[in-house]
Amino acid sequence: MNERMHDLGSEPSAIRELFSYGLRRKAEIGPDNVFDFSLGNPSVPAPDAVRRAILDLMEKPASAVHGYTPAQGSPGVRGAVADSLNRRFGTSYTADHVYMTVGAAASLSICINALANPGDEFIVIAPYFPEYRVWIETAGCICVEAPARGDDFQLDLHAIELAVTPNTRGIIVNSPNNPTGVVYPTYDLVELANILRRKQEKIGRAIYLIADEPYREIVYGPTQPAFLPLLFENTLVCYSYSKSLSLPGERIGYVLVPPTMQESRAVYAAVCGAGRALGYVCAPSLFQSVIERCVDEPCDIEAYRANRDALYEGLCALGYECVAPQGAFYLWVRALEDDAQAFSQRAKEHELLIVPSDSFGVGGWVRIGYCVEPQVIRNALPKFADLMHSYHDAPAR
Ligand code: PLP
Repeated sequence: MNERMHDLGSEPSAIRELFSYGLRRKAEIGPDNVFDFSLGNPSVPAPDAVRRAILDLMEKPASAVHGYTPAQGSPGVRGAVADSLNRRFGTSYTADHVYMTVGAAASLSICINALANPGDEFIVIAPYFPEYRVWIETAGCICVEAPARGDDFQLDLHAIELAVTPNTRGIIVNSPNNPTGVVYPTYDLVELANILRRKQEKIGRAIYLIADEPYREIVYGPTQPAFLPLLFENTLVCYSYSKSLSLPGERIGYVLVPPTMQESRAVYAAVCGAGRALGYVCAPSLFQSVIERCVDEPCDIEAYRANRDALYEGLCALGYECVAPQGAFYLWVRALEDDAQAFSQRAKEHELLIVPSDSFGVGGWVRIGYCVEPQVIRNALPKFADLMHSYHDAPAR
């Protein structure tokens, strides 16, 4: 067998491991006694329009609903996605710029494979979504970490500039961000675009910005996320309906290859080729049809906002140092000892399941996913108080 694949399969991600532990623990001591903040599984139900669309589609002939579509997705849904983006961002995209995929995971993997040759480098901003490294390295490329700013986890433009080499093929930008919850302000992204243009000029080839946008709609303000193709021409967008429409298990999203990018038609062909090579063709037909009907369905973020406020204010009041979340549904909290894994382990003793930051490429912090029922936060706060007290009684072991 392939040793690398064996290793990847034998060592599930720390996030999934914690989630599995939570399921076992809930069976042991009851679901209300375990506070699982591990996974980014939306707690808000999918909009009713999705349910209605599915019921309506079930009345159609089976072959029209369950049959293969073209590899890149049906023209109907791709046109609907393009039209929706045009209405929102004043662009002029068509179905020919959109490739339907099984979520952002496939979108990112496709983009990396479409753009890169083995040995090329992709820059990620640490802390970062752990699977980026897996996808980059599986494509035979090198994952280059550029740290975010240490205090507020915004872009460190100088660090990014230093990370670019003649082998740089692209940079992945994720805003709103998992795991920190920050949203990058437009002025920083404009400056990032300037840096990338200068570097393209210098190294004499395109550098691609891959905008990973599953949380585009989940924003609390004051900063609104910019639409990156409007700021930097060589941007591809990876989008997913996992979070905005609460459909993570249905595996549906898209890659956008804007016509404004260099060699756009060739890049779109490479995206189709990577989709084919990786087996990501013909995204689930039923959900392509659902998205065609629900593409403009708003994302209800009020439950997440209430959770964010309760958790952020509750933990700050207890003395935890937290990064104020502006988007997504994660709170980034400084661990009470240098070793985030030891901190996460001690939190587990209080039935709090929180992800150590080592999983995201940095030490000393934890991620708390607050896409949970409100009572989970309410009942967890006394546990976080106990956890804090435990450090007063017995500092790091
Ligand atoms: N990118 C980021 C930043 C994510 O947080 C996730 C999922 O949590 C993904 C990509 C993958 O999303 P999907 O479920 O659409 O594959």
